[in-house]
Amino acid sequence: MKGKAGAPDPSLYLWWIGAEATPDGLLESVRGHMDRVFGMTTRVWHGRERPPHAFDPKRNQHSSTRILEWLLHAGPGAPHRVLAVTDMDLFIPVLTFVFGEAQLGGRAAVVSTARLEPAPTPALRGGRLLASRLAKEAVHELGHAFGLVHCDRVRCVMSRSSSLIEIDAKGGGFCDDCWTRYLDLREHPGSSHD
Ligand SMILES: [Zn+2]
Ligand SMILES: [Zn+2]
Repeated sequence: MKGKAGAPDPSLYLWWIGAEATPDGLLESVRGHMDRVFGMTTRVWHGRERPPHAFDPKRNQHSSTRILEWLLHAGPGAPHRVLAVTDMDLFIPVLTFVFGEAQLGGRAAVVSTARLEPAPTPALRGGRLLASRLAKEAVHELGHAFGLVHCDRVRCVMSRSSSLIEIDAKGGGFCDDCWTRYLDLREHPGSSHD
């Protein structure tokens, strides 16, 4: 498909911005899941830059909001959407931590692996449980970036999850209502209401 007036079609990008090397196979597994759920090709962005002002020494955590601001100019640029994945612990001021954050109806989202493995052991690091949790959080935050809001259905990937139990209880994809809304938002960005 060709974009209008020479503008490229919006794509999805996945960008590892962690301190450690990417856990083996993790991004590829998340990328494959995103392709299936969003019905779009997800590309990997290989930028070596890291968000310079996101660390808060008082909290010993990284500000997800500052990472989102940075992503808008450091990443692939408009009209593309970018999901950053980090191993740093993320926060927003009113919460102890967040699994991730996104700009509602915007272009940037970030998720962290830091709280997805409460007691990482060498044998479990980068394992299937982490991949599954990360894939759900990736879709959830990008869903917000497309303009989707939280869903009441506990099995839907857009249901609110503030604990690992809630993440593990939900599926990796949209319910029928969220899927319909997603298709509408993808075709008509900015039409979100509720
Ligand atoms: Zn959410
Ligand atoms: Zn839903």
